[in-house]
Amino acid sequence: MNLADLTTIGLGGPARAFVRAGTDDELIDAVATADASGEPVLIVGGGSNLVIADAGFDGTVVQVATRGLSRDGEPGTVTVAAGEDWDEVVARTLAEGLAGLECLSGIPGRAGATPIQNVGAYGQEVSDTITAVRTYDRLAGQIEIFPNGRCGFGYRTSVFKHDDARRHVVLSVTFRLAEQSAGLPLRYAELASALGVAPGDQVASTQVRSAVIELRRRKGMVIDSTDPDTRSAGSFFVNPVLDGAALAAVQAAAGTPVPRFDAGDGLVKVPAAWLIERAGFGKGYTLGNGARISAKHTLALVNSGSATTEGLLALARQIRDGVRDVFGVSLTPEPVLVGVAL
Ligand SMILES: Cc1cc2nc3c(=O)[nH]c(=O)nc-3n(C[C@H](O)[C@H](O)[C@H](O)COP(=O)(O)OP(=O)(O)OC[C@H]3O[C@@H](n4cnc5c(N)ncnc54)[C@H](O)[C@@H]3O)c2cc1C
Repeated sequence: MNLADLTTIGLGGPARAFVRAGTDDELIDAVATADASGEPVLIVGGGSNLVIADAGFDGTVVQVATRGLSRDGEPGTVTVAAGEDWDEVVARTLAEGLAGLECLSGIPGRAGATPIQNVGAYGQEVSDTITAVRTYDRLAGQIEIFPNGRCGFGYRTSVFKHDDARRHVVLSVTFRLAEQSAGLPLRYAELASALGVAPGDQVASTQVRSAVIELRRRKGMVIDSTDPDTRSAGSFFVNPVLDGAALAAVQAAAGTPVPRFDAGDGLVKVPAAWLIERAGFGKGYTLGNGARISAKHTLALVNSGSATTEGLLALARQIRDGVRDVFGVSLTPEPVLVGVAL
């Protein structure tokens, strides 16, 4: 199995072994068997947040292909198998009159990966609505359920992203959604403006979904085989969170007001795309090695067809170093890097 075929950016060499797990039992069995023999394991969902080495993965790759969405229990509660396509989950909950995931429309990947980096967009994060994450604990060899408060959710992070050797395999995720056709109050100014309303207003959740998908398409952020700008791993860098001193340094270097969002505790989140552009890396920028910045969104690095992982990382390093030299800010990658480092 060539791992380039499993990732949205189309990069990565071969896997030593490959298992497609269609049930929880198959998933647990594949992981436990590999663990018992000391074989490295890489769990893959939709491959939309992965950058894998050109040398591939010297171990077993387990693709999560479990299915199921059920609505038992409390009103508005939905439990989704890890292998369900995320955007189909969003569409289905909205069709069933449940609000809370509408701003997360059009994000690629599988449901089981959403708690890993606390997927978010346009003012919503899955941590707002997740009540529990059911996992297989590879160390204890048993099922463990994490209520929301134990998931360690933060901006693009959770305990699952950082736990030792990827200890927990997500089996299913439970969400508590609002039983209403109106979307939740809009938090993101760009989205509210696209809908012709003010932040804080509410409009039909299906309308919110259409507006989000339209905004995302314009930025190349909806996977589309006819759009070469979507052959990416999404945003390559997370937006840096800065304290007052770091913000003042950026402000002084830029000589112009810096766009920012409140991140609580006196911190602000600054758009990485803005820093990258101001550091001299515009849309379409390339080192000529097949990797380039998307023509639609400065934050996405794209494989134009002939890129290698090393070529992509060379571009990412140049951008990271350029932003650090100009603004003193260290950008960190958002995708999970496998067998490589920035
Ligand atoms: C065009 C594009 C747009 C994007 N837009 C956004 C966005 O707006 N917001 C956002 O937050 N992200 C975005 N992303 C990133 C990505 O879509 C999300 O992180 C998504 O949740 C990844 O899902 P996946 O199934 O593809 O995970 P994968 O890429 O397959 O895996 C990602 C990580 O999660 C682990 N993992 C996957 N499934 C499991 C499981 N069941 N149990 C344990 N570990 C698991 C993998 O081992 C890996 O470490 C975007 C990506 C692309 C390509």
